[in-house]
Amino acid sequence: MTPPRNSNAARDIAYALHPYTDHKAHLQNGPLVISRGKGVRVFDEQGKEYIESVAGLWCASLGFDNERLVQAATDQMRKLPFYHAFTAKSHEPLIDLSEMLIERAPSPMSKVFFANSGSEANDSAIKMIWYMNNAIGRPEKKKIIARLKGYHGITLAAASLTGLPANHKLFDLPIAGFHHVSTPHHYHNALPGESEEDFATRLAEELEQKILAEGPETVAAFWAEPIMGAGGVILPPAGYFPKIQAVLKKYDVLFVADEVICGFWRTGSYWGSQTLDIQPDILVCAKALSASYLPISAVLVNERVFQGIAEGSSSVGTWGHGFTYSGHPVPAAVAIETLKIYDEMDIGGHVKKVGAHMQAQLRARFADHPMVGEVRGTGLIGAIELVADKDAKRNFDPAQKVGARLTKLGEQNGVIMRAMTNDSIGFSPPLIISEEEVDEMLNRVAKSLDEVMVQVR
Ligand code: PLP
Repeated sequence: MTPPRNSNAARDIAYALHPYTDHKAHLQNGPLVISRGKGVRVFDEQGKEYIESVAGLWCASLGFDNERLVQAATDQMRKLPFYHAFTAKSHEPLIDLSEMLIERAPSPMSKVFFANSGSEANDSAIKMIWYMNNAIGRPEKKKIIARLKGYHGITLAAASLTGLPANHKLFDLPIAGFHHVSTPHHYHNALPGESEEDFATRLAEELEQKILAEGPETVAAFWAEPIMGAGGVILPPAGYFPKIQAVLKKYDVLFVADEVICGFWRTGSYWGSQTLDIQPDILVCAKALSASYLPISAVLVNERVFQGIAEGSSSVGTWGHGFTYSGHPVPAAVAIETLKIYDEMDIGGHVKKVGAHMQAQLRARFADHPMVGEVRGTGLIGAIELVADKDAKRNFDPAQKVGARLTKLGEQNGVIMRAMTNDSIGFSPPLIISEEEVDEMLNRVAKSLDEVMVQVR
């Protein structure tokens, strides 16, 4: 249907290039134009209401109308709307936020660097590691190992870390020096009868073989989300990260935890690293850091990494890295307020309670559904994976676009959903969601699922 001339939809089709969109299809279908938000809900320009089951992009942790965050931004705008952090300049929001993050880190961290997005933060962390290894006389130690289905962003190096085909195809990526090991997904990748522990052991052995094949003196770091998000909400098998970390320690390979989704209570602990027993050398976070009201991301580094950077910057004369908006005072002020709100409202206690309810409801409603192969998740992150054959764990033919059909039906039924690889449907609602709202959200999901079943079966 062609949208009316000069409508928002028509002007969007005429002028906007959207991230993650099939542009030929968009010329036909047009956008869903969202115009306001309240709590866990957003409203389109016709006033239709939707529950945001993914908090936008796993990020609007405090929902869509938090007045304190608006006030924090406004106050900071009036006081100091911009200042930078180059050449040792600083300001109070940057200092306060750095201190708060170091105090809250899951393992001993030394310093914080700020960027504007998760991708920039991951790129920055890669450059820190390369710089450090050059500075301390290990110029060979540069290769990075990440995982298939991991998601770390879309800038050149971050997209090279990412292990999803759509981020590489036609982009001439990954660039040299980036490697991927297997996805730790027991449901699909374990051998018949293999226990989670045995599967984890096999994955740790695979990593060790990869490091040995490349040469340990050439491998600098291993990158992982504690729970894979955009790859389909994939939880590792029991014992996975301790086994992986033992291998990394043996060959002096740094562990970088990408907490862009998992950070700030999403998994039921402050950090995904705590839920999954990880002690990272570097931690990357973004999204819920500012409840996504303004863009900001952070890289926390331990003392060893900091010393390497300090060494290099002293020999070169400066650490030649930083963004105009690194530590921008307005997003920093919003992030400080966000972290205070998390503490004051005991969002962790809330996530544990409502998360347990969401996990139980996901299983109760969908585990036996003929189209659902696996229900997974913890805290307020979860997924259902749609399958054509439940016994054979066989996914639908991608040409059937089952996930896309489901999200379309979801929109009609008032829930915004996210379909990922293998028709995994992710759930990551605002952390403030109530049990009643979880039920309302899942009622709409269940209705949409039953409707899609009629279409595809
Ligand atoms: N890392 C993870 C785990 C993510 O989920 C994302 C985005 O979804 C990124 C990095 C990239 O962040 P951004 O889109 O802000 O560049």
